[in-house]
Amino acid sequence: MTAKILLVEDEIEIARTLEMPLAEAGFTLLHCLNLDSARKTLAVESLAAILLDLNLPDGNGIELCREIRRESTIPLLIITARRDEIDRIVGLEMGADDYIVKPFSPREVVARVTAVLRRQGWGSGDGSNPDDGENVITYGGIEVDEDRHQVMVDGRSISLTKTEYRLLLTLLRRPGQVYTREQIIEMVWDGAYIVDRVVDSVVSRLRRKLGTLPDGRARIRTVHSVGYSLTEPESP
Ligand code: CA
Repeated sequence: MTAKILLVEDEIEIARTLEMPLAEAGFTLLHCLNLDSARKTLAVESLAAILLDLNLPDGNGIELCREIRRESTIPLLIITARRDEIDRIVGLEMGADDYIVKPFSPREVVARVTAVLRRQGWGSGDGSNPDDGENVITYGGIEVDEDRHQVMVDGRSISLTKTEYRLLLTLLRRPGQVYTREQIIEMVWDGAYIVDRVVDSVVSRLRRKLGTLPDGRARIRTVHSVGYSLTEPESP
């Protein structure tokens, strides 16, 4: 079974140039020309990833990005024109995993899609996992099951975007360490060009979702003019 990638893009030429390279990389390309048909496709298809153009005939792709992120952590890459930097930032704030700037080479798109899927653990198994339950990180009431990509806080399941999830894993790797924004960009976005504002925004979303420790402190603390770290729970 090949993985299906949905491309939402009104320029037919772009779909044409992507079809073959994606097929060679093992993906089937589904193509929608507008938001309306993308919504219909999303309702019925099981997809591996979404490539979403922002400037579409029936609206801005950001709307669809927001809708998708309300219920899904599916890898989502936005496609923007070079001049639309604001859209790109908003897209990442809305939970897009990466962005591709037009004009791009098909090879670049395949590489980006593959990288995002790899980050998510795609292709590392067939879905049935023999190590179920063994890859669990816990810290201060936070429990991350890496095999299932599940996050629980105080026994309650929370849903994170891919970016938030990567940020949480980064912070959990060394709970006491204060990470600078540069380090976070390196670990969460693989060093891509990301403005500080996006980092701050993802941190504050994750902080909100993680809630507070029993003593009322937020689970992520800001270390003034340095960066962020997990808050140490009080020793029992
Ligand atoms: Ca367009």
